[in-house]
Amino acid sequence: MVAWPSGKAEACKASIPQFESGCHLFITNEPPHGGSFFYMLYIIATPIGNLADITYRAIETLKSCDYILCEDTRHSGILLHHYQISKSLKSFHKFSEASKQTEIIADLQQGLTIGLISDAGTPGISDPGEKLIQACIENGIEVIAIPGACAAITALCCSGLNTDRFQFIGFLPKKASELQRTLDSILGYPGTTICYESPHRLLNVLEAIHASAPQRSIAVARELTKKFEELKRGTAQELLAHWKDHTLKGEIVLLISGHSLENSQDWQSMTPLQHVEHMRTTFDLTLQEAIYAVAKERGVSKRDIYNAVHRS
Ligand code: SAM
Repeated sequence: MVAWPSGKAEACKASIPQFESGCHLFITNEPPHGGSFFYMLYIIATPIGNLADITYRAIETLKSCDYILCEDTRHSGILLHHYQISKSLKSFHKFSEASKQTEIIADLQQGLTIGLISDAGTPGISDPGEKLIQACIENGIEVIAIPGACAAITALCCSGLNTDRFQFIGFLPKKASELQRTLDSILGYPGTTICYESPHRLLNVLEAIHASAPQRSIAVARELTKKFEELKRGTAQELLAHWKDHTLKGEIVLLISGHSLENSQDWQSMTPLQHVEHMRTTFDLTLQEAIYAVAKERGVSKRDIYNAVHRS
């Protein structure tokens, strides 16, 4: 921990706009718990397309940094120019994340304030940042997130799929065998799965989903927040039919609904015993609860399932 030069802290506070509202909007470079100042790495979310999708706090924080780490200095330069932020940008991408770490940690320990942004959305989410954040934590350096856009959450909240329970997979594997293994696991997951996918691989993935789970509800969010934003919902087959006649371009989030009663087709290849085991492991049910759920799903009596389980 170091004492922050007080002049700098005061200058920073002076540049913060005052908001008149019932709730106190906390915008400051002081640590949230008060007391002394810390070395600080800010993880700052930036837009995923529409330049207006950035918070006041993100802009103020970018202005307060000594320098900003970004994947592509030309790309992030456009954002900074748009918001009249004149700060030095330093390149930090997946190939340089390891080699630059020591230098960045040393700068933070000298008392510099550093911001980390990525080309789009939230750093660390399928973007560089995770290793640097771990190194900061190991070295006692405070890491503060300035929240904002993230394609995964933007797509989830308008997908119409279950938002109570979801998992984020990032990019799906490219190799066919690994893709199938990952899809098998996704299709057994009880909540919504969110994946990032490229337009030229999406149709293959939809075909594989159609082969294993033809009833599954799918949502594809394309070009979120941009001019040609599109959200298509349906089964894999319905979406394949749609893109048979439309060129598929742009950035894509794929969302797959969870394994549930609505996806009853999925269990038809299972024996009652396999189905009970599947329900126990997937939903963490007791044997009795699983027997009850399976009986309900298959439309038979609990006694039938109980007998099938105890016969085997
Ligand atoms: N860190 C980013 C975030 O918070 O969403 C994700 C970065 S990852 C390298 C880029 C992928 O995110 C794209 O290939 C696409 O799958 C998804 N993505 C980013 N922007 C998007 C958008 N505007 N619409 C749909 N998907 C988007």
